[in-house]
Amino acid sequence: MVLSEISSSDEDFQNFYDNETGEIVPDSESEQEIDPLKEVLRNKMWTYNPREDIEFKKGQLFTNVDAFRAALKDYVIQKEFPIKRLKNEKIRCTAICDVAGCTWRIHASPIADSVIFMIKTYTPEHTCVMDNKNRETTSDWMAKKLLAVMRTHPHLSKKDIEVEMLKYGVHPSIQQVYRAKQKAREEIESTHSESYSKLPKYDVLLRQHNPGSICKIHYDRSNLLVEPRFLRLFISFKGQKDGFLVGCRSFVRFDGCHLKGSFGGVLLTAVTLDANNSIFSIAFAIVNGLKFAYEQLLSFAIGRYCCRHIYSNFRSQFPGMLLTSFFWQAAKSYDAIGFNETMQRIKDMNIEAWRYLSKIPVSAWARHAFSIEMKCDHVTNNFTESFNAWIGDLRGQPILTLVEGLRKKFMKKLHKR
Ligand SMILES: [Zn+2]
Repeated sequence: MVLSEISSSDEDFQNFYDNETGEIVPDSESEQEIDPLKEVLRNKMWTYNPREDIEFKKGQLFTNVDAFRAALKDYVIQKEFPIKRLKNEKIRCTAICDVAGCTWRIHASPIADSVIFMIKTYTPEHTCVMDNKNRETTSDWMAKKLLAVMRTHPHLSKKDIEVEMLKYGVHPSIQQVYRAKQKAREEIESTHSESYSKLPKYDVLLRQHNPGSICKIHYDRSNLLVEPRFLRLFISFKGQKDGFLVGCRSFVRFDGCHLKGSFGGVLLTAVTLDANNSIFSIAFAIVNGLKFAYEQLLSFAIGRYCCRHIYSNFRSQFPGMLLTSFFWQAAKSYDAIGFNETMQRIKDMNIEAWRYLSKIPVSAWARHAFSIEMKCDHVTNNFTESFNAWIGDLRGQPILTLVEGLRKKFMKKLHKR
């Protein structure tokens, strides 16, 4: 579902885009099968929410025994008390607080379908003395220190964290390490999702302050009850677009790198060479899956600028709906046969138009003739390395910081030229 889409103020470009949207549309409008049992259970089913502390209740459901075990483990780390598992089987889990005489106790076992786990009895109160205050402070403090590191290295090990803390002369306990890591991760995840949720606003701002830029955000939403899920973002800043129009080469290649943040994703960029033979980036895409990304960048990069450029000259000399549609048909043809057939039609219709187009190198405007070099991140070469170095710390940043960072880096580069 395309929730948001803008193109340049240029009318032709806009039209071209509109024609194209059919190619890049939704992925899953597929109906979801509804399981009535699951529907009933959904309300009571425990779901992991990194932003909230875990709370247990009698009657609470877990998708299976492992989900319950994981939640229990997190709970114990969160509350920092010693636990003793009296039973830890597929058919029952019983645990108590491991301080002699404490009343905290939880017991869970499967319901009728023998998979879904339910908390059958729960005594949440501790009668033991828990001194959480100091630990709280320490793990909060540690989490703050960890934030910067974990933005770029989300999967720090216990050992890594201990090493980090040693820099401050702190020797944390294992529980403090877990708790601090958890807190830092929650913080990072919430800034990441907040950042994603601000994307549409960014799109509007970009339109206002950087008119002529192209920004397309694609979401996936299987039904109206769920939040839209980010699929990909496609951006070509005005400076990139214009720079490419001036240089306009048919050479395009792709590079990408995995983003390091907790949301993952891939950053792709289409690049060409400018007049000084230095690398010039034309467009970016940040995607959750690669399926459409290459295709989208590809059609953007090879088709749009040169083609559009040639097209506007062509149209001013040879106006007419039919010629226009033949032009795009030829430009977008995937093979030489289709291209030649269409060129023949143009020739039959208007020999001058055909002559005009024939003089332009095919590789400058026809899709089938582009020499495209596709690279992805696992192919190591100098360029990819320098690209990764260029991106630097941005790889671990929330999406908006990343996009803005790219824009700034890009502007700087433009300025230097
Ligand atoms: Zn206790």
